[in-house]
Amino acid sequence: MKKALVCGAGGFIGSHLVKRLKREGYWVRGVDLKRPEFAETEADDFLLLDLRDQSNCLTSLTTPEETVFDEVYQLAADMGGMGFIEIAECEIMRNSALINIHMMHSSVEKGVKRYFFSSSACVYRDMKPDEPELSEEEAYPAQPDNEYGWEKLYAERMAMAYGKRYKMPVRIARFQNTYGPDGTWRGGREKAPAAMCRKIAEVEDGGTIEVWGDGTAMRAYIYIDDLLDGIVLLMHSDLENGINIGRQEYVSVNELVKTVAEVAGKRIRIEHVEGPVGVEARNFRIDKISALGWQSQFSLKEGITQTYPWVLAQVEAYSENG
Ligand code: NAD
Repeated sequence: MKKALVCGAGGFIGSHLVKRLKREGYWVRGVDLKRPEFAETEADDFLLLDLRDQSNCLTSLTTPEETVFDEVYQLAADMGGMGFIEIAECEIMRNSALINIHMMHSSVEKGVKRYFFSSSACVYRDMKPDEPELSEEEAYPAQPDNEYGWEKLYAERMAMAYGKRYKMPVRIARFQNTYGPDGTWRGGREKAPAAMCRKIAEVEDGGTIEVWGDGTAMRAYIYIDDLLDGIVLLMHSDLENGINIGRQEYVSVNELVKTVAEVAGKRIRIEHVEGPVGVEARNFRIDKISALGWQSQFSLKEGITQTYPWVLAQVEAYSENG
């Protein structure tokens, strides 16, 4: 039985990845600062550790039988949507860099057989909506729009350098905006799809919601199940360097709101207010992941249809409990 360590297993993507790896027959250990917020973990073992500390990284990679982990999935990060990224630059650059430095070094020390790193579309520069999609190589010359993107680029390069020097296969995915049930939906770290689902769940039919900016920024979103398919395929492929995983369905923030409103069955008015918007657009190519046989199965509407009822249930439960 293959042994996998999922770092960030208390978070949105990590907790879903644990479930996927269990379904595929792995023995899985999760590690995080916190347990998953919305459902009990399916990991065989779960450690509460701060991975900014190298001794904790080594502990997370140690088993009583001293067996070596076949696979490490590094998804732990100090992370949030645009509202968080714009105010927490120092925390992101310090905390996520420390986690990445120590987890990579410890994995080499412990002889881990294969390593996965979760990077982001934020490594790319700001773009015009109608610009041609960027290939992976066009992340250089580097001009990420925010410090979160710079930290990801640094961590990608460190992962590649370690992989090369120590002959450890390293796979790196650049995720697009990912959404689905069991993701952060309130509190300041939520991303746009969850935030729009929450706002629309909270208002009556015909009500008004606030949207940051003028709503014209273009985005593409990927549903969690599609992303997991891509992670698993990429991890077991020969593809080196950062690889894009995303769905090429570009919508404005206003269109995102419209989609959520349709799924919710509500008429919604938008009030545009000042707030952090991020880049104008970010369009990337997906030929490399597609060549592995990956294909997105969920349109935005289908993914929101899976996500909205879950957010609605959280909103209702939260308001009942005061
Ligand atoms: P998340 O915030 O839900 O999960 C990250 C987890 O890391 C959290 O549970 C957090 O507690 C944990 N963590 C933070 N600091 C830690 C520490 N010091 N020690 C141990 N654990 C720590 O975020 P997510 O959406 O699941 O993202 C997972 C990964 O994917 C991250 O690396 C993120 O940057 C990347 N990513 C996510 C998206 C997205 O849209 N969700 C897009 C691009 C990239």
